[in-house]
Amino acid sequence: MSVGSPPDHSGPSDPAHPAEQVTFLIIGSGFSGLGAAIRLSQAGYTDMVILERADDVGGTWRDNTYPGCRCDVQSNLYSYSFEPKADWSESFPSQPELWAYLRAVTSKHGLRQYLRFGHEVTSARWDAEAGCWLVSTTAGNFRARYLIAAVGALVEPSLPDIPGIESFRGTIMHSARWDHSWQPAGRRVAVVGTGASAIQIVPSIQPAVEHLTVFQRTAPFVVPHTNHPVRPLVKAAYRLAPWTQRAVRTFIYWMREFLVLGFVKNPKILKRAEVAWRKHMESAITDPVMRSQLTPTYDLGCKRVLPSNDYYPAIARPNVSLVTEKVIEFRLDSVVTADGCEHQVDTVILATGFHVTDNPTFTKVVGTGGRTLADGFGGTYLGTVVPGFPNYFNLTGANTGLGHSSMLLMIESQLNYIADGIGKTLAGGGRFEVRPEVAAAYNAALQRKLPKTVWGSGCSSWYLDSEGRNLTLWPGFTFDFRRRTRKFRLSDFRIG
Ligand SMILES: Cc1cc2nc3c(=O)[nH]c(=O)nc-3n(C[C@H](O)[C@H](O)[C@H](O)COP(=O)(O)OP(=O)(O)OC[C@H]3O[C@@H](n4cnc5c(N)ncnc54)[C@H](O)[C@@H]3O)c2cc1C
Repeated sequence: MSVGSPPDHSGPSDPAHPAEQVTFLIIGSGFSGLGAAIRLSQAGYTDMVILERADDVGGTWRDNTYPGCRCDVQSNLYSYSFEPKADWSESFPSQPELWAYLRAVTSKHGLRQYLRFGHEVTSARWDAEAGCWLVSTTAGNFRARYLIAAVGALVEPSLPDIPGIESFRGTIMHSARWDHSWQPAGRRVAVVGTGASAIQIVPSIQPAVEHLTVFQRTAPFVVPHTNHPVRPLVKAAYRLAPWTQRAVRTFIYWMREFLVLGFVKNPKILKRAEVAWRKHMESAITDPVMRSQLTPTYDLGCKRVLPSNDYYPAIARPNVSLVTEKVIEFRLDSVVTADGCEHQVDTVILATGFHVTDNPTFTKVVGTGGRTLADGFGGTYLGTVVPGFPNYFNLTGANTGLGHSSMLLMIESQLNYIADGIGKTLAGGGRFEVRPEVAAAYNAALQRKLPKTVWGSGCSSWYLDSEGRNLTLWPGFTFDFRRRTRKFRLSDFRIG
């Protein structure tokens, strides 16, 4: 909702729908929302509700059930630091195992009592007079002193704006909304996009389908994957001597942190990875035309680097066509490209990513003066607090994304900040709001730095917004973000 919208009569001020009053309202039950609830309960705060629009916890790892879905970061690092799991079955966790992990953590920490499923937040408005957030959902209204939005960055599927898309009469689905009644056997399938999801889907369905046409706009760098089963001896060591798992986690952490030097400081460091990529690609692809189609025309790292051992071999199979012409139209049973070719298909898989910097939820959160979060997103401080949004915390907000490591590192840093902020502001009964000049100086520094990184080296990517600003990635080491979020500095805020 933005300024000038009609009044919402189903909102919390409607006497027919009295609002439930809580101190802490968390929106979302992925890694961020569950992590926030754990931190609050560990600090002794129990007056909280977690709103979740779906019917289970898990976020990303509940929604992305496409075949082959797997995390690109090792299990030992892509898990809560305070909840290690000794028996990961593989070194890089698959979607089913990550989802099960999150469900187990939910139960272990007694979070089910706080969860309200089927509650989609339709508006959240700061009531300056009452000093609280008024939140409407599809299943009830709430008033909360603190609002913690953990709604995810890669959560709202982005559909391509291509004419005729609604007239396609076969199966059409986004990668994050997989239809499990659909079977690949004997199908003629189009996969639109060649990002992180596509490179996992393509090799998973290629052996079964009759024909697969992959529509590529820009070639990704696909590098060797090192996933492997975790041996029973290693699991036993992790169980019996937990320090061994912590040591492995630390090793992985520093190995990945080293990559920041290439992304941010000196892209020449990434040249060695480019050599490895070329060897990897050329060992699977022998056709010179296809090799050139699969060769990216930008610096390695500018777009997300994708690990897979079976993507290039799948692309080389006789039942796969790689099309680099732009898709310009969908018809009843075909996809038409800019060169006038019509590709007959009965299924379209849209691996077209997410609304990242234009998440529709941002328009539903209204702060002081009627400004929506969509207006204020670029002005976020430490990805967590926003000028004009009192008593509001945002997880995985602007410039908290990573191109090199686990998002859990950023999420846990934000949780430290939130816990410290609540501890410092709750007792006074007051309100906090980050000073606009503090947030402006912080963002100006980030935006001076980002164009000099590999992500600013000239490719188009989902890291950039419509104006070409990178509001997605953190341009530095994760330990620097950890240091900056360690303390909620009261001097950065207006309190009162
Ligand atoms: C396919 C895929 C692969 C990924 N791989 C990696 C990886 O390898 N490494 C990595 O670090 N990160 C990866 N990510 C990023 C991943 O999203 C984060 O690591 C992490 O899971 C984010 O957790 P979250 O809780 O912030 O958001 P999410 O997991 O997206 O959870 C947000 C929750 O909020 C709920 N929600 C949203 N809007 C509303 C609303 N209006 N009302 C109520 N509920 C709402 C959603 O239903 C969801 O449950 C990947 C993402 C995707 C999509």
